[in-house]
This record gives sequence, C-alpha cells and structure tokens, in this order.
Amino acid sequence: MKIILLGPPGAGKGTQSAKLTEIAKIPALSTGDMLRTAVREGTKVGIEAKSFMDSGKLVPDEVVIKIVKEFLESDACKDGCILDGMPRTLKQAEMLEQLGINIDVALSLDLADSEIEKRMSSRRVCPVCGAVFSMAVNPPKFADVCDHCSAGLIIRDDDKPETVRKRLAVYHAETEPIIGYYRARGKLKEIDASVSIDETTKALISVLGIG
Ligand code: AMP
Repeated sequence: MKIILLGPPGAGKGTQSAKLTEIAKIPALSTGDMLRTAVREGTKVGIEAKSFMDSGKLVPDEVVIKIVKEFLESDACKDGCILDGMPRTLKQAEMLEQLGINIDVALSLDLADSEIEKRMSSRRVCPVCGAVFSMAVNPPKFADVCDHCSAGLIIRDDDKPETVRKRLAVYHAETEPIIGYYRARGKLKEIDASVSIDETTKALISVLGIG
C-alpha cells in the first residue's frame, strides 16, 4: 500500500508517519528530513535546497522528485511505503503519476493555522539524532537536552514565527490544491489532527483498516 500524508506544516505528519511505519511495517520517506540531511552534509542537493528551506519556500520540484524516485523504486518499497511531505505541489502529484507510481490513499491531517503557529513555536529538535520534542505536549526530561543522545536541542530555522507564517502561506497557495486532486480520484481521507497524538493515530489506523 502506498500512502501519502498531507497536511500543513506542524500538523504531525512526521510523528504519525513514524507510528504508521511501526504498525504497518512499511518504510517512510520524509522529503523534509532527506533535504535537511543533504543540507547538513553539504551535498549538491543540499546546497541547492538550503536557501529555499531557510526562507520557508518550497525546493524546486525537479530536485525533490529525483530523491523520491530513487526511494520508491528501491526494494525497500516493494510492500508499500509512506510519503511524508511529498507531493507538495500539483506538479509533484502529476510527476508521481507520470512515473507510474500509484498512490492508494492520501491521508490529510487537518489543523487550523492558529493551532499550527502554537505547536511550531514549541517544537525543539535534536541536531544530532533528529528526535523531535514539543515543549507543550512531549517535553524532554531535561530542558533543551535530547532524551536519546544528550545533545543540546535547537529550534529549526524554519520554525521561527516569521518563517512559519511564510510556510503556511506557501502551504495554502501551493500544497492545499493537492487535496482536491486526490479527492477527485477517490483517494482522499481527511483526519482531524487537533486531537492528541494517540487519538490521531487511532483515527488513521481505523481509516486504513490496519492494526
Ligand atoms: P518539512 O520537514 O516536511 O516541513 O519540510 C521542510 C522544508 O523542506 C519545506 O519547508 C520545504 O522547503 C522543503 N521540502 C520538504 N518536502 C518538500 C517537497 N516535497 N517539495 C518541495 N520542498 C520540500
């Protein structure tokens, strides 16, 4: 089963993708994580992507599709996979279709902008192992220290309030139309993401008919 997770930044796509990976036993790809790794490692893709990401804009479609294509065609995906943060534009959705990649279900995590701004201002990430914390609902045991590897936690550059507002504007203009694209194909399932992490996971499991 090929699943895509749609929804605004901060709706919990990364968190739910990790849960679904465990439950459905299929791998997940987060284009945001892959791009951040590329930036950290200073690869060609990373150098190209950095300025777009830091300013809250989308990385060009051609750059992203190259990364995703490799993953989707790999052996790891033969039993299915989860795409988190991709497609992000109608063009990317069309590119997937043109590559012959058939999406079975598009799960849309719905959350109001005001709640997103609140959530993102409380997010802290570990720059070493990638763990994500929320100072509001899932705080680290010791303030600003990663529970898993003890590195100092940071605020992602793109979680700063001005950038969050810019990312939301980009989401509404460029990504939201994808919801209609998958609805028209009968593949859209909408989930209320304003509830707790566990309740959202339960709703996803029920919609997918797994677990
Ligand atoms: P995320 O972690 O999914 O919120 O992504 C962080 C940033 O990475 C976004 O604000 C974009 O700059 C970039 N990005 C991630 N996925 C994509 C994508 N599918 N298309 C274009 N840019 C992306």
